[in-house]
Amino acid sequence: MGTLPAVRASRTRGVNGPVSTREKKLKYVYDFTEGNKDLKDLLGGKGANLAEMTNLGLPVPPGFTISTEACKVYLESGREPAALRDEVSAHLDALEQRMGRTLGQQDDPLLVSVRSGAKFSMPGMMDTVLNIGLSDASVAGLAAQSGGDERFAWDSYRRLVQMFGNTVLGVDGDLFEEALEAAKRAKGADSDLGLDAADLRKLVGEYKAIVAEQAGRDFPQEPREQMDLAIRAVFDSWNTERAKLYRRQERIPGDLGTAVNICSMVFGNLGPDSGTGVAFTRDPASGHQGVYGDYLQNAQGEDVVAGIRNTVPLAELETIDKASYDQLMKIMETLETHYKDLCDIEFTIERGHLWMLQTRVGKRTAAAAFRIATQLVDQGLIDEAEALQRVNGAQLGQLMFPRFEDSVDDAAGYQRIGWGIAASPGAAVGKAVFDSYTAVKWSRSGERVILIRRETNPDDLNGMIAAEGILTSRGGKTSHAAVVARGMGKTCVCGAEELEVDTKRRRLTAPGGVVIEEGDLISIDGSTGKVYVGEVPVVPSPVVEYFEGRMHAGADEADELVQAVHRIMAYADRVRRLRVRANADNAEDAARARRFGAQGIGLCRTEHMFLGERRELVERLVLADTDTERDDALNALLPLQKADFVELFEAMDGLPVTVRLLDPPLHEFLPDITELSVRVALAESRKDANENDLRLLQAVHKLHEQNPMLGLRGVRLGLVIPGLFAMQVRAIAEAAAQRRAAKGDPRAEIMIPLVGTVQELEIVRDEADTVIAEVEAATGTTLKLAIGTMIELPRAALTAGQIAEAAEFFSFGTNDLTQTVWGFSRDDVEASFFTAYLEKGIFGVSPFETIDVDGVGALVRSAAEAGRAVRPDLKLGICGEHGGDPESVHFFHRVGLDYVSCSPFRIPVARLEAGRAAAR
Ligand code: PEP
Ligand code: MG
Repeated sequence: MGTLPAVRASRTRGVNGPVSTREKKLKYVYDFTEGNKDLKDLLGGKGANLAEMTNLGLPVPPGFTISTEACKVYLESGREPAALRDEVSAHLDALEQRMGRTLGQQDDPLLVSVRSGAKFSMPGMMDTVLNIGLSDASVAGLAAQSGGDERFAWDSYRRLVQMFGNTVLGVDGDLFEEALEAAKRAKGADSDLGLDAADLRKLVGEYKAIVAEQAGRDFPQEPREQMDLAIRAVFDSWNTERAKLYRRQERIPGDLGTAVNICSMVFGNLGPDSGTGVAFTRDPASGHQGVYGDYLQNAQGEDVVAGIRNTVPLAELETIDKASYDQLMKIMETLETHYKDLCDIEFTIERGHLWMLQTRVGKRTAAAAFRIATQLVDQGLIDEAEALQRVNGAQLGQLMFPRFEDSVDDAAGYQRIGWGIAASPGAAVGKAVFDSYTAVKWSRSGERVILIRRETNPDDLNGMIAAEGILTSRGGKTSHAAVVARGMGKTCVCGAEELEVDTKRRRLTAPGGVVIEEGDLISIDGSTGKVYVGEVPVVPSPVVEYFEGRMHAGADEADELVQAVHRIMAYADRVRRLRVRANADNAEDAARARRFGAQGIGLCRTEHMFLGERRELVERLVLADTDTERDDALNALLPLQKADFVELFEAMDGLPVTVRLLDPPLHEFLPDITELSVRVALAESRKDANENDLRLLQAVHKLHEQNPMLGLRGVRLGLVIPGLFAMQVRAIAEAAAQRRAAKGDPRAEIMIPLVGTVQELEIVRDEADTVIAEVEAATGTTLKLAIGTMIELPRAALTAGQIAEAAEFFSFGTNDLTQTVWGFSRDDVEASFFTAYLEKGIFGVSPFETIDVDGVGALVRSAAEAGRAVRPDLKLGICGEHGGDPESVHFFHRVGLDYVSCSPFRIPVARLEAGRAAAR
């Protein structure tokens, strides 16, 4: 799965052999002088960058890193690798020699920090302990060595007991906070700076008592024991619930483990000429260069982020300590030029001496990512290919949707009542409605509505179109609601299972008893899946205005962001090999897709053309008892279909349009079996049952299937219902001929769905060829309509060589292929048990979202190869939902497909990712 496996690598036990074999081979501990920034897998981000800074000659306190490999052994076996203790001892010895004192030495203690650091930054998710080495015995020595600063020594000690007690021994942190507050109150101090040495000494006594009582053991006085326990605590913190949750959200694989950095302590709490701060080499929100950061005098470590005292803007450091400030500015310049990117930094000043404690390529907003990438090109630091790697499709996607104001979070006074699957991004606010009819009615009268359903079905289409957004309590990322909403670029949260949707009573009940009635305002965030009561403010996206052609990159109102997006899209288009088409079934979507850069339509789902008023004609077709009745129904459908195609071919003039013949089970066009049964039963009890309803009920019963997705659908419909596919082919051919007559350039392709064997395709193909020949003869036109198939069943993929004999193109239907390869119902599993699968690490991301390279992907690859071996010019595409998924686009590039097809709103994302894949 490229860099991010949907299916996580097999458990290391099976693949790498027993833990002991691995242990023998590995070195687990690296001095900062031994590593570099490219060793993040081994040393974690923090360790790798500390090593890089050390080697750049920057002032980094000496130390060493325990590798992620040691953590993996610990996590797998429940114990540290046997060799670790000796290796740590050797590195500690070397550190002690270099520093001229030993860990916890009574008269002059060497103190260290023990800090977590995984490959991918997981801010605040794992543990860190500072001041390791302090004890009752060495606290006086620390005071003496700091020039008799008793306050400093006791402050450092109380921090150690607090941090150690909380993170290593699991004592509730509030107990320490309460004791600290009580001490401040007793002293009348409004911050910890108001406490003197005696207060702090007393506090240490109280803290130790808390530890003894809560942890059932004394705070360890032995420095090495402190260190070893802290190392273990950092390993353990990899698997805390919050760390696991964060990894799931950020798609960080669960088996990477964390490194542990042991770094000699420097102190920012040695008085007003000391302090600690964070800085960015440019603004992570706008990307602009400047002095960004915060500084806190006389403070240590997490005080800055914890907000215990007010920080000052970094620029003020210039007046507080000009020499350190100047040095910091120079270092920031060095880092930016070296990393060629925005860096964030943590530093400490110890009595006028500046120390670098951390740097990394900094996180940034999506908008800043685009701006910074182009700024760095303009500065000559990176080239265009590199600029493409500095942004990604997910960021572009974020920029395209209207969104809630950045300040919105759960703390901002908005009551969150649910958290479902982020199915289609964007921010939507409206009045709650529980049925399509009301959605349409209210929106016609100018109301903004959110359509809330347990799940949606094709009947809800009008309501979905009318609504600002869709919320369902069932269904996953490929549920009807999700797929259709994404296609429309409409915000959707689905599978919010904790919400109880009662469509009859028109109300939704959230946990805790919050009830949303029809007409109540509700806000849904399709980028996070969060659902709020009331109205959360929304801002529109200038990037969509740009793609829509309503704003030009050169125009005055186009800000730097739009210009940056414009430039980066141009780089991507220049280098990409994959073409990008749209999944679109009407002229409006097709036209938008074209504006967004689509190079054709890869999937026109014709079933959407049989809804609304036309549903009655489908009913007539299904109920037909005689050939004449059936032909009448088909003949009535023909001109309507033809008109649809004429519009579509016109909108996509000169570009390919792949029209898929009817795919879904027919009962989807018929009334719901339960509703109809009730209607008929009631009518019968009144003795006025209507003949048509009775026939319809009979037909619905006949067509009812236990597993409709594996039933009478796709090519099977064409083979079983005489004339159905012929009518569709005729409509396509006549529409193409009409466009030709109008001097247009229609490029229709006919696609047969759900083929499992070449024989099915051959029969349908022969019939289609005959119809096309008839239309060609009747119109005097040569149409050149390509006929191909979807590959969406394992058997089709496995016999792709045979199928290629009868197909001019393949389009991989990876939605159905994923469903059938895994045996996962695409409508059910995501909302029912995927959370458990994700938690257990069975896969890192739903295979319906990102292609499962090892399983489904292997079939795509081999089918592509087998098809091309038989027919070298076989055109290959993909039209499942994966066509707009960034990771999957890279895979499709690698296996040599010709195009990906995705919903119109995802086209820019696919273009960008196709460019990134090619430039890699
Ligand atoms: C697919 O199965 O991937 C596909 C595109 O078809 P549908 O989603 O319409 O079944
Ligand atoms: Mg399909």
